[in-house]
Amino acid sequence: MAKRVAFVGLGNMGSGMAANLVKSGFEVKAFDLSELATTQARDNGCYIASTAAEAVVDADFVVTMLPNGSIVETVYIGDENAKGLLDSIPETALILDCSTIAPINARTVGSAAAAKSRRFVDAPVSGGVAAAAAGTLAFMVGGSEADFEDSKTVLTAMGSNIFRAGDVGAGQAAKICNNMLLAVHMAGTAEALQLGVDNGLDPVVLSEIMLKSSGCNWSLEKYNPMPGVMDGVPASNHYEGGFLVDLMLKDLGLAMEASLRSQSSVPMGAAARNLFNLHKHSDGEDKGSKDFSSIQQFYSKS
Ligand code: NAD
Repeated sequence: MAKRVAFVGLGNMGSGMAANLVKSGFEVKAFDLSELATTQARDNGCYIASTAAEAVVDADFVVTMLPNGSIVETVYIGDENAKGLLDSIPETALILDCSTIAPINARTVGSAAAAKSRRFVDAPVSGGVAAAAAGTLAFMVGGSEADFEDSKTVLTAMGSNIFRAGDVGAGQAAKICNNMLLAVHMAGTAEALQLGVDNGLDPVVLSEIMLKSSGCNWSLEKYNPMPGVMDGVPASNHYEGGFLVDLMLKDLGLAMEASLRSQSSVPMGAAARNLFNLHKHSDGEDKGSKDFSSIQQFYSKS
């Protein structure tokens, strides 16, 4: 019999992920507050539940892909208005939250789940909407060894790289560290390219030189932020698509929050958050829905 997955949160990321579960032979019972999202999920082969509680009631796995930590906590634990899903999820099911939230939110839900004898892992993703649709996401999982092994049953249908970062909350911590570093090397790459242009260099030639030199990094190699240097990246498409400035700011905010809790010094991460925030509000327009490599424009003099 096909394994049953309850999927809650069928937005930009969740719709592709749920569709890939269907393609891999899972019976997916899905729920979202948005009617548009549920219509699309039905077209992709999901059964639509009328509430999240109805979706999870006979599930083998529960997957959530929701906007933020307070929504994730409310959905699982409940509030003064409604019960949380933990009261409806079978004890045998494994819960996977794939949303990007603070490690503390993940640990709160994990502890509440454990108190009700439910198994929970946090499994945030690296990769955007295209990777969610293609089933090539990377997952960073926080949970016990046994739950991690179990989680692969569904995660392999949605992604190609699956890591165990540690116990509950560790997946979110890994995600935050990775994206803080991404912000730093993207901003640094844009800064170096602009310095080169301002000093008479061709950005194509400078990129070739740095790719073979010690400045080489992922942003330069796969995601060059200077328009016209690389084909098929957002910089060569008016910074449309890709990973939005608003989402990078969300992740940098989570990194700052985590650094306060652990009393870590993060001067580079803090500078990157400030840069992306200044960029978002520059030139009298909201650049939040541009790709994050548009930070290049922040350095440009024209
Ligand atoms: P989205 O806003 O497109 O989708 C979220 C969905 O959750 C929406 O369809 C919304 O209606 C639904 N929702 C909200 N509250 C709900 C509730 N109480 N019950 C049921 N459904 C509810 O967001 P997204 O881009 O799909 O991102 C989802 C998560 O993935 C976020 O945590 C984000 O940070 C993370 N993420 C996004 C990307 C990306 O490129 N979009 C990349 C990596 C990680």
